[in-house]
Amino acid sequence: MIKDRIADVLKEVEARCRKSNRNPSEVTLIAVSKTKPLAMIEEAMACGQTEFGENKVQEMCEKASQLEGGAVNWHLIGHLQSNKVKKAVAVAGLIHSVDSLALAQEIDKQAGKIGKCQDILLEVNVADEKSKFGIRPEDVLPLVREVAQLKNIRLRGLMTVAPYTDDAETNRPYFRTMHDLMVDINQKNINNISVDVLSMGMSGDYGVAVEEGATHIRVGTYLFGERDYTK
Ligand SMILES: *Cc1c(COP(=O)(O)O)cnc(C)c1O
Repeated sequence: MIKDRIADVLKEVEARCRKSNRNPSEVTLIAVSKTKPLAMIEEAMACGQTEFGENKVQEMCEKASQLEGGAVNWHLIGHLQSNKVKKAVAVAGLIHSVDSLALAQEIDKQAGKIGKCQDILLEVNVADEKSKFGIRPEDVLPLVREVAQLKNIRLRGLMTVAPYTDDAETNRPYFRTMHDLMVDINQKNINNISVDVLSMGMSGDYGVAVEEGATHIRVGTYLFGERDYTK
């Protein structure tokens, strides 16, 4: 049952926090509901889950409108194209996947039109994988400086999708690099920018991510089961 799975994750987060001298209240579980039916989201909501992640704008918006009135905070975690920014900004509480100045500028523009200040994260391709979106670690600070100029955007932190692995420990150095990058941003005193969100860790490696400072973990498969992309 989803209820038990959520409880498992929260318990594991607590154990990892204890081990690394962190407070579990610093860690938010985002339930990644992509490809999964509304009934599953509602089941999770009934257990008090409020944070949900989707990787497609269309799917996020459809689910949001069908759950209208429900207290869901939507996280857009997938690649975002400029032509979908308007819809994304209308619904997403936090956009995790900003990976270019052009995209940030479009978000700024669309947020301005509806009088919103959009919370965003910069997506970092921390292991420099060819198949992944995200900026390189060395491009983070220059982009932060540019994004800091945009009035309708609030930069909250960084996000990464670490390499797929059977051994979560192999991702520990990448999570550590992400934490270092966040510390780096805060030390540079860029235009009053202060970041505190580190979105990292998925079903296979969230425990290690928490030990290395994750504030938002994105868990799908463990909560909802394997995804079926053939439909
Ligand atoms: C699908 C997805 C997740 C969840 O991954 P699981 O392995 O199913 O927990 C997390 N982050 C992003 C960006 C995703 O696209």
